[in-house]
Amino acid sequence: MANVGVYVQVPFCQTKCTYCNFHTGVVSSDRFAPYIQAVQREIACERGMLAAADVIPPTGFDWWSIRNATLRLVDADTLYIGGGTPSLLSADLLWSLLLSIYEAFRWESKEVTLEADPETIDEHKARAWVSCGINRISFGSQSFIDDELKAAGRMHRAADIYSAVPTLRHSGISNISFDLIAGLPKQTHESWRYSLAETIRLSPEHVSIYMMEIDEGSRLGLEVIRGGPRYNARDLPPEEAMADFYELAQHDLRAAGYEQYEISNWARPGFASKHNLKYWRREPYLGFGAGAHSFSGKQRWSNVHDAAAYVSAIEKGRSPIDNVQDVTTQMALEEELFLGLRQIGGINLARIEREYSVDLRAKVDRLTSSGMLEQCGDVLRLAPEKLNVSNEILVELLR
Ligand code: SF4
Repeated sequence: MANVGVYVQVPFCQTKCTYCNFHTGVVSSDRFAPYIQAVQREIACERGMLAAADVIPPTGFDWWSIRNATLRLVDADTLYIGGGTPSLLSADLLWSLLLSIYEAFRWESKEVTLEADPETIDEHKARAWVSCGINRISFGSQSFIDDELKAAGRMHRAADIYSAVPTLRHSGISNISFDLIAGLPKQTHESWRYSLAETIRLSPEHVSIYMMEIDEGSRLGLEVIRGGPRYNARDLPPEEAMADFYELAQHDLRAAGYEQYEISNWARPGFASKHNLKYWRREPYLGFGAGAHSFSGKQRWSNVHDAAAYVSAIEKGRSPIDNVQDVTTQMALEEELFLGLRQIGGINLARIEREYSVDLRAKVDRLTSSGMLEQCGDVLRLAPEKLNVSNEILVELLR
């Protein structure tokens, strides 16, 4: 059994970005400490909370066959503190959270990632992060053009990126991942090329590129759907520019020595995100905090999204889990295809057909002959030049 990945959700931000469709909120910093205490209590009482929510310990899971009321015998090797903006937490609060997590699991080696926004980083915090074991920063750069950052409601400006990166490096962080968003309001082909070039010039070990999502969950998305003048919806680049943006990123990052290992992710050799790979490989992970998701192989479950409701449940000694789903064989098969094919290395089709007693030959033949998929022996993967239409291909395969 693979080691567990541990995720902690910190759902607080300084402002709400116009495109954001996450369950995050802007709250007073007085709310941070009670929230972190609730997360610590959830971790300490995890076994009882799982039982109360009818999460069934699957057979064969050593990490569930625990002798006492804690998860101490569970082997874990990645920890991801995400959000929201967890870099808003004080160094002391973060240290206390990390200590509880280190004590609750059995660690051999650790990849410990903290999501950090450029304007929240200073020397004192960065040094404290390194001394409490954080060895990877997922850095919310998003764009190097101030007009785009402003239009998207971001708090930082390009100058914050340029000052934060050396601060992180001097503090001893040797693994930085940059996030960029393709499709921001006011973005043009030239400005996108510039943000890519500046990213490459600052030489992070890892780059994630997210395509702008337009849906009802964000203020910008609502403006696109319903109209309105407030969130720069009219300045969004045209739909057809997105494929060009993606292809330019593929080209420039490859030329700079980055390997694409997933639809949205590139890394220097040896720097692929160990934590995120667990999601695509369907390895187990445990999530703590409001809205956090967990996966055991047999079940998926998640906590209540609302941070206040989460804290209240924990304070009353109730489980915060509000959704438990058994993973049926059909769902597991679909996940193997959908998640597995996101990885550039592809999937072992023969193993999947054998394990799930299915014959996918007709569908695969159709998609390979139309140039959407490539097959080499048992390995099936998305055709490299079709990654920008991966969703359509995956839907076709799962139909
Ligand atoms: S910082 Fe991230 S999580 Fe927070 S509002 Fe902006 S996009 Fe959403």
